[in-house]
Amino acid sequence: MTRILIAEDETRISSFVSRGLEAAGYSTVVVDDGAEALERALQDDIDLVLLDVGLPSMDGFEVLTHLRGQGSSVPVIMLTARSSTLDTVTGLDAGANDYVPKPFKFDELLARIRSRLRENVATGGLSIVHQDVVLDPLTRRATVGGRELDLSAREFALAEQFLRNPGQVLSREQLLSRVWGLDFDPGSNVVDVYVRYLRGKLGADRITTVRGAGYRWE
Ligand code: CA
Repeated sequence: MTRILIAEDETRISSFVSRGLEAAGYSTVVVDDGAEALERALQDDIDLVLLDVGLPSMDGFEVLTHLRGQGSSVPVIMLTARSSTLDTVTGLDAGANDYVPKPFKFDELLARIRSRLRENVATGGLSIVHQDVVLDPLTRRATVGGRELDLSAREFALAEQFLRNPGQVLSREQLLSRVWGLDFDPGSNVVDVYVRYLRGKLGADRITTVRGAGYRWE
């Protein structure tokens, strides 16, 4: 059974979400503290984490950073009352898969959860290879010519989009949506910044800027 960890210190919200998810056929585990959330999320039986930003002992961003730092690729959806784009970008850069601002409608949360769980199944286990670049989405290992690269979660997701669509122009909007889960442009140059990081790690010639349109993997 698919098990979802709910890390939320407002009992009213966690019990509402937990009841809803159980009614939808998921099993849930509820914790109300950041350190506890990290410890629980690192266990193998958790398939997805709903992570509140404002948690006691360790906030959601710290939990996420530690989780990714320890190599976990469990899907994480951040829940937060804060709606600033800075928080959105911070959370997504720290390796969140999605972001749901409070207050949210349960159906919307459920739709996001289903979509993230589907993605995880869809990408599990198959290496993506283009010339001498190899990405393994399951272990999140990346190599170029057999040499291992140290990519952040977001750099890896961006590289994955390029390798899955070689020769195609990907617009900033498409990349924001697929890599950052944003259906709007937060008004930052986050895509350009990450393309620059990737060029630095993979070689500058592989990603071409197509002026006014976006980027293309050669
Ligand atoms: Ca909270």
